[in-house]
Amino acid sequence: MNAFLAALREQLGEAGLLVGGDLAAYENDWRKRYAGKALAVARPASTEEVAAVMRLCHEHRVPVVPQGGNTGLVGGSTPDDSGQQLLLSLTRMKRVRGIDLANASLTAEAGCVLAEIQTAAAGAGMLFPLSLAAEGSCTLGGNLATNAGGTQVLRYGNARELCLGLEVVTVAGEIWHGLSGLRKDNTGYDLRDLFIGSEGTLGVITAATMKLYPQPKERLTALAACASLDDAVALLGLARERAGDALTGFEVMNRASLALVARELPQLPQPLPAAAWTVLLELSDAESAEHARSVFEGLLETALEGGCVQDAAIAQNIQQAKAFWYLRESIPLAQAQAGLNIKHDISLPVSAIPGFVAEMDAVLAAYLPGIEVIDFGHLGDGNLHYNVQAPAGVAAAEFLAAHESAINEQVYDAVQRRGGSISAEHGIGRLKREELAQRKDPTALALMRAIKRALDPLDLLNPGRLV
Ligand code: FAD
Ligand code: ZN
Repeated sequence: MNAFLAALREQLGEAGLLVGGDLAAYENDWRKRYAGKALAVARPASTEEVAAVMRLCHEHRVPVVPQGGNTGLVGGSTPDDSGQQLLLSLTRMKRVRGIDLANASLTAEAGCVLAEIQTAAAGAGMLFPLSLAAEGSCTLGGNLATNAGGTQVLRYGNARELCLGLEVVTVAGEIWHGLSGLRKDNTGYDLRDLFIGSEGTLGVITAATMKLYPQPKERLTALAACASLDDAVALLGLARERAGDALTGFEVMNRASLALVARELPQLPQPLPAAAWTVLLELSDAESAEHARSVFEGLLETALEGGCVQDAAIAQNIQQAKAFWYLRESIPLAQAQAGLNIKHDISLPVSAIPGFVAEMDAVLAAYLPGIEVIDFGHLGDGNLHYNVQAPAGVAAAEFLAAHESAINEQVYDAVQRRGGSISAEHGIGRLKREELAQRKDPTALALMRAIKRALDPLDLLNPGRLV
């Protein structure tokens, strides 16, 4: 064991440092696109230990890859294959440090699993609204480092909008004590917002103070079948008009994405007959169950009469509501099971989405007959997961090797022409770094690089990612 690892072991003890052995769970990413080799895995149990790790890395010039639940989709949380990068896992830092009910806030450590934070908030009679399909494994630190979105952004915003304060360890091992329950604080540059979404390239998030909300009195979920994406957009407008802030979820799934679920996960019930687009709507009502139901039924009746909805089903109980949501959330799982695919996590003005999808579907069908577009996502946020899968019978790896860059170029050109973003919620990581360098506003890119140089001049924090 070299001097660096020996010093780490001294700081972290046996449980805090894994050297050799099977580290595959830390070294390979969720999608199985990136297989890496770590120098070792450091597992600090406190902020002070994280600071000690960073001081040693700084002194010995060892690059560091921070990792939470390792559910990231852009290759940002796993080491490269050099065997030189230290993997810094935050998963032992999983304490909820406190809940301040009067301030409607919760402070937790970075390694807390998202679902456990939701449970802690519910235990105090409150709602922590951040919610995504990976919530059983992803961590608060990873959510903030990627500025995660998910299914409740429409009403509550993404991770950034839910965060009040951060505790961060710098590359040189200093601790920034920025935990704060303040909703107003104009004392200069917003460091919190700088670290949120920085994907582990500027500092290590060790804890955060997050906003809580009152639990809704009632939550209703429905599925609606639409003949076109234009109809789905019309339904969104109607739902906003009728339900206002009570509209907490508006997700869409194209025919191919639910057909894929039927193939890969045949045990899942699909309550509505196949439609061009299936919408999942959720309404969370602060008044009462009766009020919620009458708003929801009125809205769907109007939509059925007006013709933007062909068929609809309201979940009759919590189990059914969960099953509706699970159907939506199982699409990425079905895709992972079916093999590699080309993922696009794009955002556009909602008004531009039907035109984009019509154009791209036609372009791709002409480019490679039989190609499958698994298109689903958060229409209410203008965010689609426009994923492209090989035609039946074509091996996924060959398909990616032959077509990924050409397809990306077509999709991202069309997104850019309409003023959209090439990453709505998953981040840049390794997967989209080149793309970002080509497509981001040059002045913005220069400012981002200047910030990176100022905070991490030796390029030790997650090198080769993002910028
Ligand atoms: P990791 O994957 O471990 O890390 C992600 C990035 O953050 C890496 O760059 C890593 O270096 C950095 N990082 C992690 N922890 C820290 C820390 N403490 N300090 C500094 N940097 C850190 N994302 C969405 O936004 N919306 C979705 O709806 C969504 N759905 C998903 C569904 C599935 C099935 C899966 C597998 C993923 C989904 N994701 C989604 C992506 C992913 O779950 C989120 O990005 C999540 O926030 C990552 O958290 P994590 O703890 O797993 O982070
Ligand atoms: Zn998503």
